[in-house]
Amino acid sequence: MNTAGLHSLIDELKQQNVQLIAISKTKPAELIREMYEAGQRVFGENRAQEMAGKHEELPTDIEWHMVGRLQSNKVKYIAPFVHLIHSVDSLKLLKEIDRQGARNNRIISCLLQVHIAKEETKAGLYENELKELLQSDDYRSFEFIAIRGLMGMATFTNDENIMRQEFSELSNMFSSIKNDFFKEDLKFKEISMGMSSDYKIAIEEGSTMVRIGTMIFGARN
Ligand SMILES: *Cc1c(COP(=O)(O)O)cnc(C)c1O
Repeated sequence: MNTAGLHSLIDELKQQNVQLIAISKTKPAELIREMYEAGQRVFGENRAQEMAGKHEELPTDIEWHMVGRLQSNKVKYIAPFVHLIHSVDSLKLLKEIDRQGARNNRIISCLLQVHIAKEETKAGLYENELKELLQSDDYRSFEFIAIRGLMGMATFTNDENIMRQEFSELSNMFSSIKNDFFKEDLKFKEISMGMSSDYKIAIEEGSTMVRIGTMIFGARN
């Protein structure tokens, strides 16, 4: 995507109050720098060490978002700088993020990833697991975690109705979790859903953050 294309995408999203997370996984730092020079400041990666390397190499005012499955033993690589972890799917992982937050003396913002797709392989918590987590004593004891909302991925399909239904399910879950656990918390406000192929539908169903890779950077190998 050229600069003009990126600008029109950013404008399109801005008008709808949706934040663009440019997913730069597997792409070299030079390509990210081009998008940075075109004005983009928010990038997403799915591997901790790759993100840490790019963070070292690129301007310090980039906001780095972790969107891929994160192993507990990798949290340490990104804890000093990560802006938002979208892919928190277990209490174990949250515990380690809290521990690393304490070590770095910073509160780490997270989204809880929920399972909305028909495919079993897709990561994420089911609604009952999500509620259990939020009710646990461990969760209540965390001091270095701020939950900002939910993230989800729709089934890989061409059927628009299925995507729409899954995104709508995530939106409804967000409202219900907000009401039950975060009523007074103004910072619990993000619904991260939508990728290159389905972001328009996700926005229609209430997305506040879209994670777009291929459309910006081209296909990955
Ligand atoms: C790779 C990835 C994306 C971006 O997908 P595109 O189809 O390239 O836009 C979004 N979200 C997650 C979790 C990803 O791993």
